[in-house]
Amino acid sequence: MIDMEKLSNPQKTIQIIQKKHFNFQKKFGQNFLIDAHVLEKIIAAAQITKDDFVLEIGPGIGTMTQYLAEAAREVTAVEIDRNLIPILEETLSAYDNVHVINEDILKVDIAALAREKNGGRPIKVVGNLPYYITTPIVMGLLESNVPLESITVMVQKEVALRMQAGPGTKDYGALSLAVQYYAEPYLAANVPPNCFIPRPGVGSAVIVLTRRSALAVSVRDEKLMFRLIRASFNQRRKTLVNGLKNAGDLDYSREQILEALRKVGLSETVRGETLTLEQFAALADALLQEI
Ligand code: SAM
Repeated sequence: MIDMEKLSNPQKTIQIIQKKHFNFQKKFGQNFLIDAHVLEKIIAAAQITKDDFVLEIGPGIGTMTQYLAEAAREVTAVEIDRNLIPILEETLSAYDNVHVINEDILKVDIAALAREKNGGRPIKVVGNLPYYITTPIVMGLLESNVPLESITVMVQKEVALRMQAGPGTKDYGALSLAVQYYAEPYLAANVPPNCFIPRPGVGSAVIVLTRRSALAVSVRDEKLMFRLIRASFNQRRKTLVNGLKNAGDLDYSREQILEALRKVGLSETVRGETLTLEQFAALADALLQEI
């Protein structure tokens, strides 16, 4: 049944956009959801309860915000486009547990928000992300000291596949390892372009990243491990030794790299794309001893 009051009804979305003379801004990655089924799936995947404080990234005209407001205790929604603020005031007027901030999410002090709104307890982040800044948003949250329980977001399908890929697959890369170091990914839904206005040029997917209570591996020099990871995927077709040897920000001789590979039981001809996170961590620890 279509709820005529909810914005997830496509006619209602078109009506608001026309009435408010809203112009979509491509530079802000604006593709608004118009599918109630997908919205229900996102709320279920994020496991929102009445105990939760939720940070929503990019509420648009408030379609998902309405669902979040009904499921959560409190919602703060951060929207960069000031033309959407008067629309949000109208579409969210029935909810007294929603607070809208007109700001760039990358400039918001989220740790302070979690302290103020959730007593510093881990928060849930939800959003149909603007695709042009997916990685800085997600990695910024995971790498920061924000108390975080989970991130449930709509992203480009290709990015979702990369986030959850394992060793030896074509989607496996630096993003897979960076995400999986901090979180456990779960692909909750594939979402076709016709669930949005305007339709995006690519397929989308909802991914849930549940923050791990402890990092996936322990490594003595985290920065070195990620430099190794970047270097080996920058030169995917090369063997790991050649990839690391040619990396500008690493200063190891061929002999040092070969010795480290021997120590961790890897072959001289191994390619970086087959290594697990545990193996990258072990290699970073072995290379530290080579200095
Ligand atoms: N949540 C809405 C929905 O599902 O219909 C809109 C999703 S739309 C894909 C992305 C939203 O993020 C847009 O409203 C856009 O203006 C907003 N946005 C883009 N860049 C942003 C940024 N840096 N900070 C906060 N919001 C941003």
